[in-house]
Amino acid sequence: MLGKPVDQTNVITCHLGNGSSVAAVRNGKCVDTSMGMTPLEGLLMGTRCGDIDPAAVLYLQTALGLSAKETDTLLNKKSGLLGLTGSNDLRAVIEGAGEGDARCQLGLDMFVRRVRKYIGSYMAVLDGEVDAVVFSAGIGENSALIRGLIVERLQGLGLSADAARNAAAVGGKQLDISAPGSRVRLLVIPTDEELSIAQQTLQVVSKAAPVAA
Ligand code: AMP
Repeated sequence: MLGKPVDQTNVITCHLGNGSSVAAVRNGKCVDTSMGMTPLEGLLMGTRCGDIDPAAVLYLQTALGLSAKETDTLLNKKSGLLGLTGSNDLRAVIEGAGEGDARCQLGLDMFVRRVRKYIGSYMAVLDGEVDAVVFSAGIGENSALIRGLIVERLQGLGLSADAARNAAAVGGKQLDISAPGSRVRLLVIPTDEELSIAQQTLQVVSKAAPVAA
């Protein structure tokens, strides 16, 4: 889509689904990702809190008397959009916010704000040399509203979306949604996690020593 060799291309990918993460890719290789040792770190997700002050976790354990397992369940399965709004489905959160529900509006604002912070941070990681920001997965591929909110007022960082192209990028279409003249291109690219997992698994097992009969 950019007409450049992958090994000369820098991108920031925003995989926004029920699980979400942002990655900084320099010359075709991932050099940073919002996920940590587990997928809990980083963005606010459907049921995961994402980035949190570790002291807040210790405070919660003490104040509520939670075990390690209960804390894990709280942070991974009962937090994020679900904890804030009662639903882990962003469509329901958007609908609620439209009806004036303050918790849904908060969930929506927090979701968008966290993605914007990571894009800004990864711009710095990539020394400001970014060819494209890519949106992918259920939210990234389908929600013109969320993409629009993420990139609005980021013209100073070189990001500018074309409203009509953004609105047209729904239902798994691969599209360039940049406004003419946007220094950083904005791309919507459907994810294919299963293919990627299969390819990487094949790479690992084909390197492994054959098992003796
Ligand atoms: P995934 O995990 O990639 O299947 O993505 C699931 C998430 O995508 C859920 O939070 C859905 O609410 C969200 N999603 C799917 N379609 C839309 C849409 N049109 N607008 C907003 N969110 C959507």
